[in-house]
Amino acid sequence: MTSLPYAVIGAGPSGLAAARNLQRFGLPWVGYELADDVGGLWDINAPRSTVYESAHLISSRTTTEFTEHPMPAGTPDYPSHRHLLAYFRSYADRFGLREHYRFGTEVTSVEPVGDPADPAAPPRWVVRATGRDGIPVETEHAGVVVANGTLSEPNVPQLPGHFDGEILHTADYKRPQIFAGKRVLVVGAGNSGCDIVVDAVHHAASVDLSVRRGYHFVPKYVFGRPADTLNQGRPLPPRVKQAVDSRLLRMFTGDPTRFGFPEPDHRLYESHPIVNSLVLHHLGHGDASVRPDVERLDGDGVVFRDGTRRPYDVVVLATGYRLHYPFLDRSLLAWPEGTGAPALYLQIVSPAAEGLYVVGMVEASGIGWQGRWEQAELVAAYLAARERDPQAAERMRARVADPSAWPDLSGGYDYLGLERMAYYVNKDAYRRAVRAQTAELGVAP
Ligand SMILES: Cc1cc2nc3c(=O)[nH]c(=O)nc-3n(C[C@H](O)[C@H](O)[C@H](O)COP(=O)(O)OP(=O)(O)OC[C@H]3O[C@@H](n4cnc5c(N)ncnc54)[C@H](O)[C@@H]3O)c2cc1C
Repeated sequence: MTSLPYAVIGAGPSGLAAARNLQRFGLPWVGYELADDVGGLWDINAPRSTVYESAHLISSRTTTEFTEHPMPAGTPDYPSHRHLLAYFRSYADRFGLREHYRFGTEVTSVEPVGDPADPAAPPRWVVRATGRDGIPVETEHAGVVVANGTLSEPNVPQLPGHFDGEILHTADYKRPQIFAGKRVLVVGAGNSGCDIVVDAVHHAASVDLSVRRGYHFVPKYVFGRPADTLNQGRPLPPRVKQAVDSRLLRMFTGDPTRFGFPEPDHRLYESHPIVNSLVLHHLGHGDASVRPDVERLDGDGVVFRDGTRRPYDVVVLATGYRLHYPFLDRSLLAWPEGTGAPALYLQIVSPAAEGLYVVGMVEASGIGWQGRWEQAELVAAYLAARERDPQAAERMRARVADPSAWPDLSGGYDYLGLERMAYYVNKDAYRRAVRAQTAELGVAP
């Protein structure tokens, strides 16, 4: 049994899953969390939370929750951030996870001791952090599990020109009352952008939505049931699933071009689908309008790519987030310059540094927290194997070191080549690969 504890950075769903799995495998750990409690971005008051008052799950609860900890009976199909915060607190309580966390503590640097690429030397890592008292602390760990989230660092495009009104990113948006009586432009029709349009129509003088491309809109309910609970059995081949589901969407949400959107330049599931039919409802009622991509800001208005110009008071940049590991040298994460994401084995294990793992760096339609929990289970199983079955650990290590042997995680889908899709996977292919690797290690909790 190792004497140094492992470090877990973050107490959101992924950090809690990491903590819980280290606990299951009997491995010592210490958690670091910037906020005052568990819950991650689902705690609207946490320093790096990017949820807003109206935020609810986009995936339904049964496809999202931890399998070992179902939400209580009577929880809605699509719970709000308040329900989810209570859920994560109950998870931490049930397994006694809070006691091992240092809350109000921000990790500022994570560095290996010695050569992190040398598999012969037992890895040791120094974690530096600043607590509530502002005093820096330094602690040595046997390894580090990074679970600091993927949706906290705003991706802010440099729009040419100058705007006299207010510009904010969705990361700073909390309540729709800020739109009262104002002319609002939301830039980007991702899931947050569409939620904010729906919020704004009840308060603003006018609401426009600027889009660069067309999207596929998935309703939350199909045949009266959460859409993502249908067809949960054996996955259909991509082309068949795309054909069947596209037909279904045409029946339920219709043709998005009727509402002013451009024709999508990709097939269904080749980008993250927009799970929102309310935005179409409001466009159909004339409460909001679709505009082209922004060409430039122009004083009290915005000029669009088609040459039209409209006046606005507020511009909301719903332009997404980027991966951000400010406490780590990029080389430790094998993260090539100019790419959107580190190149990690199964998006978890760094080939450049023994003892460094990332949990939660995965985006997929329907991956849920159970998908992140399975990532954490693999990390804990590997760490346990290093002690109990070094040969099994070595076999996995050899695979980590050889990217040409890494499995294809696309599930046969041809994803859009955008930066935000850099760590996108197909949930079925991905979960299968992670579970297979855990099973191959052959260590039981
Ligand atoms: C509006 C919205 C809707 C969403 N809907 C869904 C959905 O329906 N289904 C779904 O699966 N996902 C959804 N998500 C994605 C969401 O990111 C995940 O559900 C989940 O929160 C990811 O958990 P995480 O632990 O990886 O990250 P987070 O929840 O972001 O937690 C990261 C934690 O790390 C802490 N931290 C960061 N840096 C440091 C540091 N340096 N030191 C110490 N602590 C640090 C943060 O304070 C935070 O508590 C949604 C996200 C948003 C914004």
